[in-house]
Amino acid sequence: MSDFAIVQNYFKQAIHHLEIPSDLEEVLATPYREVTVQIPVRLSDDKIHVFRGYRVQHNGSRGPYKGGLRYHPSVDLHEVRALASMMTWKTAIVKLPLGGAKGGIDCDPRQLSQDSLERITRSFMIRIDKILGPTRDIMAPDLGTNPQTMAWIMDEYSHRYGHTPAIVTGKPLALEGSYGREAATGRGLAYLFREVAPEMGLPLSGSRVIVQGFGNVGAWVARILEQFGCKVVAIMDVDGALVNEDGIDVNACYQLVHKEKKSLLECPYGDVLNGDAVEEVYGLESEVYIPAALGGMLTPSVAEKLNCKLVIEGANAATAPDADEILTGKGVHIIPDVFANAGGVVVSYLEWVQNLQRMTWTEREVNNKLQQIMLVTYRELEQRAREENISLRVAAYATGIERVLEASEMRSYI
Ligand code: NAD
Repeated sequence: MSDFAIVQNYFKQAIHHLEIPSDLEEVLATPYREVTVQIPVRLSDDKIHVFRGYRVQHNGSRGPYKGGLRYHPSVDLHEVRALASMMTWKTAIVKLPLGGAKGGIDCDPRQLSQDSLERITRSFMIRIDKILGPTRDIMAPDLGTNPQTMAWIMDEYSHRYGHTPAIVTGKPLALEGSYGREAATGRGLAYLFREVAPEMGLPLSGSRVIVQGFGNVGAWVARILEQFGCKVVAIMDVDGALVNEDGIDVNACYQLVHKEKKSLLECPYGDVLNGDAVEEVYGLESEVYIPAALGGMLTPSVAEKLNCKLVIEGANAATAPDADEILTGKGVHIIPDVFANAGGVVVSYLEWVQNLQRMTWTEREVNNKLQQIMLVTYRELEQRAREENISLRVAAYATGIERVLEASEMRSYI
């Protein structure tokens, strides 16, 4: 199922719960602005390749548009549109004074040199810079992009408009990035586990964790949960899976994969599975399953197999609606993407605030603010879900939608 169909389905469930009339629904569902650009770049085969770049600004009633930039061959306007709308609800759920946007380019960063990626990024910026700005639209890393991508964007923008660090977040520390930003999405997920574990009767120390995806989000949540004493028993990524019932040495894997650019499957810290055998990981007994790769990967058949108590969604549009129903039927507690992975945008917001004020917070200050926002929001959503007898997901979407609606009405947009 596509990210678009997944997000649309959950949005509709919340709209139904809130009894929002169809004309207002239409305003909330449709993006304010969508831009598609052509990015022709000559690659190492000496041929010109034409990529498609997108930026969708979904809703800006609560503040400047904010959202990641994704590089993946599957990127298209539908996907970016869905993810942009999720950002609108997400920033509202955690009460950041920001709107929602998303961008993407249909390129495969795994197949491109750094030089090609730089030219693609700068070329994209040249075509969309007029709709960006520190009080208009601020990009951040997402799937397939990283602090280096943000550095190129900031540099390209600064050439045109003067030094503007607040044009992007998730920048390297050397370019006024924030302490704690790189780890923030994973850290937010880990804080949520630490919060809910006691009331679910799960021990923090020794809880078994499975992580799908070992990129920015997956690697950081696995590392932080390892620090909390959890046992990461399986890690999956695009190449296959690593399994170790006694716990994988996550930090060592991180060094090999992220610093030495080795494949996950080259890490000598567990049994390697690839091909169809990777599916076996889903059936392993665990306390927590964390999808942190592509959207839609938690399908009904995966949901049937999962043998966990808790799913904390790191990936956007992680779970198909019928898989969500199966998990709920099995009594699995789900902390939904639209809130669970908000740690990234929370610290992006903190980075933006620091840039605008030309000051710096310590990592401890940033992490404390992140923790405060994630845990207060979890309590709000959990209370609402209980009182209105709805899922945490519907409570989250409904909360975001209500806040956006209120701001839109106050500004006479609707
Ligand atoms: P990333 O590019 O750093 O890592 C992606 C990971 O997914 C890699 O380990 C890759 O091997 C794995 N993967 C790709 N295809 C796979 C497949 N078919 N099977 C298994 N694994 C596969 O991306 P990221 O920034 O970690 O983002 C991961 C997810 O989290 C995305 O859905 C993204 O939208 C979401 N997210 C990211 C952030 C952020 O701050 N980076 C914030 C919120 C949400």
